[in-house]
Amino acid sequence: MKDIFPVARFQNLRTPFYYYDTALLRETLRTINQEIAKYPNFLVHYAVKANANPKLLSIIRESGMGVDCVSGGEIRAAIHSGFPADKIVFAGVGKADWEINLGLEYGIFCFNVESIPELEVIDQLAAEQGKIANVAFRINPDVGAHTHANITTGLAENKFGISMQDMDQVIDVALGMKNVKFIGLHFHIGSQILDMGDFIALCNRVNELQDKLEARHILVEHINVGGGLGVDYAHPDRQAIPDFADYFATYAKQLKLRPYQTLHFELGRSVVAQCGTLVSRVLYVKRGVNKQFAILDAGMTDLIRPALYQAYHKIENITSDEPAEAYDVVGPICESSDVFAKAVDLNKVRRGDFIAIRSAGAYGEIMASGYNCRELPKGYTSDELI
Ligand SMILES: *Cc1c(COP(=O)(O)O)cnc(C)c1O
Repeated sequence: MKDIFPVARFQNLRTPFYYYDTALLRETLRTINQEIAKYPNFLVHYAVKANANPKLLSIIRESGMGVDCVSGGEIRAAIHSGFPADKIVFAGVGKADWEINLGLEYGIFCFNVESIPELEVIDQLAAEQGKIANVAFRINPDVGAHTHANITTGLAENKFGISMQDMDQVIDVALGMKNVKFIGLHFHIGSQILDMGDFIALCNRVNELQDKLEARHILVEHINVGGGLGVDYAHPDRQAIPDFADYFATYAKQLKLRPYQTLHFELGRSVVAQCGTLVSRVLYVKRGVNKQFAILDAGMTDLIRPALYQAYHKIENITSDEPAEAYDVVGPICESSDVFAKAVDLNKVRRGDFIAIRSAGAYGEIMASGYNCRELPKGYTSDELI
């Protein structure tokens, strides 16, 4: 286990920091490319919001993927990392005018539109720039995902997307506009989904909607099913690369793609989660009533997922080989929710030990904040350290 970390090289680095195993990232990207090569109409976009570290973005760009952005800042990050504008899709329930203008100026591939008011603004801003914007509609498929309530997005009660009942009307509005071109439908039902049944439910819904559109003689060139494939947080080494074969095969089998259609995916977590580790040092070991605390120099400001959605991350002491004891692993932030895990077994912990918080490559570094006036953690790749 420890052999996967260049611990000797960690000695001179200021903790906490993110460590990225680029060999694993490259292998993950290779696996994705190998799987989609089986299906000529499949295209993958990396969801930048999972991790926008420029070193990772440039490796992902080399793989040939496009990107899914949810803000103007992400569009800039993608362009700076060399992604071609015609491989950028732009989603988000609240796009500001400057963000829409930025997308129009770069000539991005498609805006994933979530309401009629937004469509009107895009049409107007495109007219001002003398352009025609490609638009897809994000439809809320009212499909639940078996994941944490905070990360389901495809239920009728969620803020995302356009309801199925409104789909026909929204398309009609778009077809009557001069500066938008309706090219597709977009869906995204949530994140950290491991039950293929959830994706099958989405496919069934897409099939129904497609039949309805076809009955109206409306052809849709692009179907985008979003992302959401989960990773094995409990066993980061056992299955470091998610089962992309099963994931893409599920869509190939269940979704009735027309021969003239392209199927787009927007994968975030499944691409980058397992290659990232938050590395921190133990500041103190403190005895409490009936328990002991390992107090780290990393906190919820560096990795907020446990505090935000009770997320589980595997934690390891990568310094010690001594017999395991149980610890509550906590950070230094002045919030009671600044706890990474309770009663976890770690090899006996001493001040100064390196603690690895695994599977932290997605929604980790990118969600870091400066609360308590803390410095943001740096990110190092294995390329730099070995
Ligand atoms: C967050 C998001 C994704 C990526 O989700 P993952 O679970 O990280 O794969 C894809 N599409 C949209 C629209 C998103 O908001």
